[in-house]
Amino acid sequence: MVTYTNPKTNESIETELPFDRVIELLKDVDNSFARSLYSQAIDRGLSGPQQYWAVKLVSEKIKEPQPVLLASDLQAFCSRGTLIQFKLPEYGKIQLRTMPKCINVYCGTYYYGNIIGDKYYSSRYAKDGVTAELLLLSLDPITVLAQYGKDSGVCCFCRRELTDERSVNVGYGPICAEYYGLPWG
Ligand SMILES: [Zn+2]
Repeated sequence: MVTYTNPKTNESIETELPFDRVIELLKDVDNSFARSLYSQAIDRGLSGPQQYWAVKLVSEKIKEPQPVLLASDLQAFCSRGTLIQFKLPEYGKIQLRTMPKCINVYCGTYYYGNIIGDKYYSSRYAKDGVTAELLLLSLDPITVLAQYGKDSGVCCFCRRELTDERSVNVGYGPICAEYYGLPWG
């Protein structure tokens, strides 16, 4: 563990990373200050205060949750309605709730993170198996949801029982089909 101190403010920060790794990771920090520090580090090395800032920027970057890239914009798909829900045999009930700026993911009562555009930011409770299911869903949302509906006999959007044969065939009812702009009957 090495401590870097900002002599101006006396704030300090610790890191286990070797300093050349810090410089390497600085390339992934997307702002002009980080880019300037990186090129100075390569050209002539960094001063004490600059080293402090390099470590600070990289530490903040590492703490950011890393999103999983989905195969399509699931936020746009889910936002056609308010709630999509289905059961996974291993994990139980999954809910995708439409919020103003994202889709919240729940598994049972646990918050599993959110979806923004084609990125899934999982929470620390999230399980890899559920992440894999969301990836699968993003590949072909309509087909996957329809299959959940067919398997369970209830609509994947509103959980109403599917009674009409045409609904059973597609996995959702006519009202939800219209709401989500999906083929039915
Ligand atoms: Zn429905």
